[in-house]
Amino acid sequence: MNKKDQNIHEKFVEYGCNAKEWMRKCVLLLPEIERRRIWKKKGFGSIYEYAAKLAGMSRWQVEDALRILKKIEDKPFLQQGINSVRPVVTIVTKENEKFWADKAREMSKNTLETYVREIRTSTESDNEVIEILMNLKPELVDKLKKLKGHGGWNELMEEFVEMREKQFEQEKPEKVQTNSRHIPTKIKKHVIKRSRRTCEYPGCCKPYEILHHTRRFALYKEHDPDKIFALCKGHERLFHQGLVEDEHKAPGFWRIREVPDKKDPKFKIDLKVMRFRSAAVG
Ligand SMILES: [Zn+2]
Repeated sequence: MNKKDQNIHEKFVEYGCNAKEWMRKCVLLLPEIERRRIWKKKGFGSIYEYAAKLAGMSRWQVEDALRILKKIEDKPFLQQGINSVRPVVTIVTKENEKFWADKAREMSKNTLETYVREIRTSTESDNEVIEILMNLKPELVDKLKKLKGHGGWNELMEEFVEMREKQFEQEKPEKVQTNSRHIPTKIKKHVIKRSRRTCEYPGCCKPYEILHHTRRFALYKEHDPDKIFALCKGHERLFHQGLVEDEHKAPGFWRIREVPDKKDPKFKIDLKVMRFRSAAVG
């Protein structure tokens, strides 16, 4: 990219940024405009027409803004712009709004969505059974039924899972101690195969994006296949924000927490990682 290109690009970014800020201000005025029927007093047929003609807003944008703003109208902490609070509107109450307002300010939209999902599932019961629908070939169904016999499906599936885990255990490469951050190919391949290219956070089905050291490389200088996990971006961010308890244990033990453990030595490293990242995008 030459200097001229860069110049034009920078201008666009600056104007775009201002446009977003002005649009945010427009959006926040909408409930008041609706309440006072200002659009009518000014001779418009509806608030949609008013917002479209004067600010170029679509009908969807207006409806969406009014819906979300209605949910947060009695929650002053959350009035920082609707896009950042959108993921929390289904979970926020008057009692916890300060907590969620802080999280909305600190986290990216994607991370916040993931966090809301985790908080919600952590409050659900652990003892439920889930019905799943699978498309299987008839001959496979027959074989499975025979294998199950008079036992339950849970026992058969547990047996399969155990066998698979054992097989992985046998194929697992040794951990490597090194000063190089680069994860050795053998270990990388193993983790990706184990994850089936899906985030290894329990209950998450998103494709994996990042390989994460649950024992920070900066502290241990090692690549241990048992301590490296394939994660989606949202879950990886939660780890680096110190919001996952018992991170060093197996995924089944991970628990979402509400505030990070600042005494944990990895917290310092995570702060650095977060700072480095925000500098890289900003
Ligand atoms: Zn995930």
